[in-house]
Amino acid sequence: MDLYEYQGKELFRRAGIPVSEGRPAETPEEARAAAEELGGPVVVKAQVLTGGRGKAGGIKLAATPDEAEARAGEILGLDISGHIVRKLWIEKASDIAKEYYLSITFDRGAKKPLLMFTTRGGVDIEEVAASSPDALVRLHVDPFEGIQPWHARALIYGAGVDDPAEQKQIAAIVEKLYAAFVDFDAMLCEINPLIVTPDGEVKALDSKFTVDDNALFRHPDVAEMRDLEAYPPEERAAREKGVTYVKLDGEVGILGNGAGLVMSTLDVIALVGGRPANFCDLGGGGDAQGVVDALEIITGDPQVKSILFNIFGGITRGDEVARGILQALDQMTISHPIVVRLDGTNAEEGRKLLADAAPPNLYTEPTMLDAARRAVELSK
Ligand code: GDP
Ligand code: MN
Repeated sequence: MDLYEYQGKELFRRAGIPVSEGRPAETPEEARAAAEELGGPVVVKAQVLTGGRGKAGGIKLAATPDEAEARAGEILGLDISGHIVRKLWIEKASDIAKEYYLSITFDRGAKKPLLMFTTRGGVDIEEVAASSPDALVRLHVDPFEGIQPWHARALIYGAGVDDPAEQKQIAAIVEKLYAAFVDFDAMLCEINPLIVTPDGEVKALDSKFTVDDNALFRHPDVAEMRDLEAYPPEERAAREKGVTYVKLDGEVGILGNGAGLVMSTLDVIALVGGRPANFCDLGGGGDAQGVVDALEIITGDPQVKSILFNIFGGITRGDEVARGILQALDQMTISHPIVVRLDGTNAEEGRKLLADAAPPNLYTEPTMLDAARRAVELSK
């Protein structure tokens, strides 16, 4: 789950990382009121779940509340890489002497968190990595050992920060950012830019914060930050029902159990010349209600012409899924052809249930390849 800048900064603030004071706003009038409350010049910042807002005109300085209102009017409604701006963050403007970059990501290959730091912040970090890789210091942290004072020193000296007061503040921020990364089960904590003010104060001027969806149950306060309006309606409905759903742009709706099986199903559909319209992953469960929920979401997509069920029973039982399909067909009118391939635990029982009920638009196939062929044929 990606957090908005202002939400990430709230977590930074809780972790003891210096940030500027600000207020959220959704209208130009609210932006003006926020600027009045904050006093002095402010920066009006588009809140969208994508980067590069500055370049896209989504970050503007305002010297007075009047100006804040005007800038807010310009930024609201702006399209930034496909994200329409509906929220703003009005923040006390900072004077900037230097722009650094600091991040922690999870390096899956190394199975360790990866710290990255450079004094060439403010710009795209990919640019720095490509044009001057030596300027970007990369350092893994052993998750069992945790963050140690030497990590921060290695980053600071490696990047060539020589001011002692800066060094001290950055070292503290590195340790706090790591603590936040661990405490909130983050996948990414990025500060770009991490600024140094003309007075020598170091603080986070931006925030990119991604929390592992699978850990949200441990952080109800963070889970609550999710902005449902930022997702397409079908994805929102799927999320509310606890179904994993991804929209694609072909014609075959896919329902499988387990990410691996679903991915291979997409491949097999492509192999036989079809295109997936979307997919739902029933996960390890796949009880009747889960199937009903998933079918509702899949058939809600007008592009779907046929549906392919690819179930390999493990924990998920074939008879349970078959009952789910029949129950769904009972509860809702599905005119789409449905192709079912059942294998694994209780597949026999499942196939028998389907054969006995024999709904007119239901086809069973013995293998994944046969099922994919049939589903693609029926989608044309
Ligand atoms: P991004 O473009 O989405 O990464 O948004 P940022 O929050 O990083 O802002 C982009 C740029 O706007 C920063 O690199 C700064 O140069 C500038 N900026 C943001 N906030 C302030 C501020 O308070 N004062 C000044 N002078 N510039 C700011
Ligand atoms: Mn930024």
